[in-house]
Amino acid sequence: MLETGFKYDGQRVTGFDVCVSGSGAVAMSLALSLSAEGFRVAWARAPAPVNLPASDVRTYALNSRAIALLGRLRIWPALKPYSSPVQEMVVRGDEGGALSFSSWQQCVSELAWIVDAAALDRLLAEALRFAPRVEIVPPVSDQGAPVQASLLAICEGKHSSSRAALGVTFSKQDYSHWGVAARLTATQAHQGVARQWFRSPDVLALLPFNQPDPLASYGLVWSVPKVRAEHLLTLSAADFEQALQQAIIQSDPAAASMVGTLNLTSPVAAWPLALAQAERWTGPGWVLLGDAAHQVHPLAGQGLNLGLADVDALVSILKQARLAEPWRTLGDERTLRRYARQREWPTKAMAGLTDGLLHLFADERRPIKDLRNAGMTLVQRLGPVKSWLIGQALDA
Ligand SMILES: Cc1cc2nc3c(=O)[nH]c(=O)nc-3n(C[C@H](O)[C@H](O)[C@H](O)COP(=O)(O)OP(=O)(O)OC[C@H]3O[C@@H](n4cnc5c(N)ncnc54)[C@H](O)[C@@H]3O)c2cc1C
Repeated sequence: MLETGFKYDGQRVTGFDVCVSGSGAVAMSLALSLSAEGFRVAWARAPAPVNLPASDVRTYALNSRAIALLGRLRIWPALKPYSSPVQEMVVRGDEGGALSFSSWQQCVSELAWIVDAAALDRLLAEALRFAPRVEIVPPVSDQGAPVQASLLAICEGKHSSSRAALGVTFSKQDYSHWGVAARLTATQAHQGVARQWFRSPDVLALLPFNQPDPLASYGLVWSVPKVRAEHLLTLSAADFEQALQQAIIQSDPAAASMVGTLNLTSPVAAWPLALAQAERWTGPGWVLLGDAAHQVHPLAGQGLNLGLADVDALVSILKQARLAEPWRTLGDERTLRRYARQREWPTKAMAGLTDGLLHLFADERRPIKDLRNAGMTLVQRLGPVKSWLIGQALDA
């Protein structure tokens, strides 16, 4: 049923401000944010799969800006029970280098929140069912958008077909690594500590979580070469747990005893990893957001944070434009370029940082190995540099 204000021109429904194309967290957050600001939204989502896949086993590290956005959308109160705060982060190099950050040193109540990816998707989808001024419409096809709208916001993820149809190049560098994710419980309490090991060539992270055990659960993100990931996916639960435990003991025996024995509480899943960036983010009547615009390595847990920051920036620019320049359509390229200018630099900086760290820690040459571990220890001693680094991640 269409709300008053929408019309049918004989071919397509007209009268929408923005057509949001995509089915993930970025598309849903954008549709909700636009609706809350009074824009009329057509949400062009992919049809629900017939055989529902097992729910997403990932846990996302979300920064304060992302949590603030979810708060404004009234998602955060319902998501908080499926989330855990990070009070401390300990990063270890492969030969003695170490870096640690804590919420009290940063003067913040927590460094990040670890949230349940499946609960986030579910709560956003539920909220959209009741959002005013949002119509669910069929997906964008070869014939273009299913409705007439001033702006097409493309949030279709890294394989976006609308981006390809617009002829926008997505420069991609495959890492030949996969991100292996799972949920675990441990025999020792995590005490809000996130741990990460740069093991050359893999990067392993245990993120403190609150489900099923409120005090001793973890989300695992283990970036490993593709062949190793394929092998890990074939292992039984007991063999996977043993492989993981061994990796932690090899890297950091002291931390291994602090973490305790780890047990799987979910299936193990893996995603191919790449660094990618769209050559243009905007054009007349269209804009890219989230993974459709950029893809980064998950070692700094920033992909969705960047996508939600895109949502935040675009909605605020569209709001300003509607007030200050009401004669312009929302799809006016001058308005959209403001969004691209605001978001391109922080995204490139984060992509460069994660990529640089990955390459630095993959290098096997002795002087590089010594330098990177010494560098970590040096940053640990240089309070202001350390604070700046964590500040970037807290507010990307
Ligand atoms: C192992 C791993 C761990 C991660 N951990 C973190 C973390 O800790 N913190 C963090 O911030 N980020 C993390 N990320 C990154 C994060 O998952 C992504 O950045 C985020 O999911 C991107 O959201 P999105 O909505 O842009 O794209 P997607 O999640 O890919 O969603 C796009 C959706 O649109 C659908 N779609 C495609 N085409 C169409 C179409 N034509 N019409 C309608 N729908 C369409 C797709 O099927 C998909 O469902 C991690 C990633 C991995 C792989």
